[in-house]
Amino acid sequence: MTAARYLRELIPQAEVVLLERNPTFWSGPMSNKWLIDIVDTDFLNHDMLSPAIKYGYTLVHTEVIGIERDTKTVRTAKGNIHYDYLILSGGIRNAYDAWFGNDLRAAEYTRQHFPNAYEPNAEMLALKQKLKDFKGALSS
Ligand SMILES: Cc1cc2nc3c(=O)[nH]c(=O)nc-3n(C[C@H](O)[C@H](O)[C@H](O)COP(=O)(O)OP(=O)(O)OC[C@H]3O[C@@H](n4cnc5c(N)ncnc54)[C@H](O)[C@@H]3O)c2cc1C
Repeated sequence: MTAARYLRELIPQAEVVLLERNPTFWSGPMSNKWLIDIVDTDFLNHDMLSPAIKYGYTLVHTEVIGIERDTKTVRTAKGNIHYDYLILSGGIRNAYDAWFGNDLRAAEYTRQHFPNAYEPNAEMLALKQKLKDFKGALSS
């Protein structure tokens, strides 16, 4: 989003298109305050369309499923998009295979039961719920 904003500002004639799968922006920074209810959800969660309109770039909500560098094409769930220049910032992703190899069940179990909230959206909500449900440690 930052790159899209400043590209439009620095090269006004450029057609800038931002591809994003999440419907809203969830901030990782400051999320600890949200996890323990010091700030509310509006503090972290923002719509993405307003900045796109304000700064004049196009926002397309879609999943990127592939990139063909030889033909300069991004394949998305909504079809192919051609580009002259491509900036990639896909963020972080859990690599459960480093722990569990091909054991997809173990990876899925860990994802569901131990969300680390490094990925925005659902994982952050799941971790907050776990904190709410936490009744304290067992004493021996
Ligand atoms: C809990 C937490 C706290 C943090 N605190 C700080 C802090 O205090 N200060 C600081 O400087 N940094 C902090 N960070 C780090 C900071 O959030 C990241 O460094 C920064 O967001 C990385 O920017 P990015 O654009 O590379 O990735 P992101 O902000 O993660 O953006 C990547 C986007 O790509 C989208 N995406 C991924 N794959 C696809 C796909 N296939 N198709 C479509 N869209 C896709 C994702 O939905 C996401 O919106 C924190 C991170 C976390 C998780």
